[in-house]
Amino acid sequence: MLKQIFIKILRFIYPPRCYLCDVVVSFEGVCRDCFNKLQASYKYNCNMCGIELKIAGTCLNCLAKPKIFDTISYCFVYNSEIFKLINGFKNHDKSYLAKFISNFLIKKIIEKQLADKIDIVIPIPIHYRKLIKRKYNHTAILSKIIAKHFDKPFTYNTLKKIKKTKDQMKLNGKKRLTNVKGAFNINKNHLKYLKSKNILLVDDVLTTGATINECSKVLKESGCRQVHILIFARVNGTLKV
Ligand SMILES: [Zn+2]
Ligand SMILES: [Zn+2]
Repeated sequence: MLKQIFIKILRFIYPPRCYLCDVVVSFEGVCRDCFNKLQASYKYNCNMCGIELKIAGTCLNCLAKPKIFDTISYCFVYNSEIFKLINGFKNHDKSYLAKFISNFLIKKIIEKQLADKIDIVIPIPIHYRKLIKRKYNHTAILSKIIAKHFDKPFTYNTLKKIKKTKDQMKLNGKKRLTNVKGAFNINKNHLKYLKSKNILLVDDVLTTGATINECSKVLKESGCRQVHILIFARVNGTLKV
């Protein structure tokens, strides 16, 4: 009771503000104007690469050359508002955004009926040097919230980043593939838990697909059956993997 009164007083002095434009709002999140600037994923997407389609299913490219991973689900199409959110979340210590972002990811899992298909939730790892600098792996925070919500096991160190790579956003398609080649491996102690398991691999932004491709490859070589990708925002265009 006392705690609730205290929270009410605090909210009066420091009302919640929109995460994007800083106007006062009545709830934690983004204001209506900013929310309208976020573009939800298309009505129909290729279930394997996420590209926009006219009807539900798999695109011709993926039918001809299936990806290593099994499905992709994403919440938004990447734009400048999404950039502000993600950048704040991962580079400027705004870890309070985790709940807001993971709510969309959880809704997407429900919409795509993914929960029954997955056994373990795994984040895209970051290199330990980056971890020291940032203090947290933002995708691990999201994965943990998702795993708890659906009562699934979560491991943050099954997949390890062993090579320090350049920022993928600053490279072109081909360089992105070579940049992440051999950058990930599996924690050998976890191999016994991965056999025939279906993985939910969580990342914030999908651009060419090079990172999720490399991670999926390592997971499947380690005995995983399926890898389902869950992304907060996907950059428009065809994947380069
Ligand atoms: Zn706003
Ligand atoms: Zn496709």
